[in-house]
Amino acid sequence: MNHCPHCGTSRRPRLEPAWLLWLALLIWLVPLGFLSMGFWPFLLLPSIAISAWAFLAVRPVCPQCGKRRKDSASADV
Ligand SMILES: [Zn+2]
Repeated sequence: MNHCPHCGTSRRPRLEPAWLLWLALLIWLVPLGFLSMGFWPFLLLPSIAISAWAFLAVRPVCPQCGKRRKDSASADV
């Protein structure tokens, strides 16, 4: 595994912001709930948009020093 370039810890990075990750998961309960009752999946498009936003915005963060890690492909240069 790669190490943090700032403090050198090898602990697993956290995913931040965690609330956005939870929001992206929990908002799917609304359209899936409507769909399971046979209704039009209300909030389907916002759910897709928030999931895409979370996919772009959520990044691994060092649990030791709290700094964002770069992508592992470019960090070892
Ligand atoms: Zn660190």
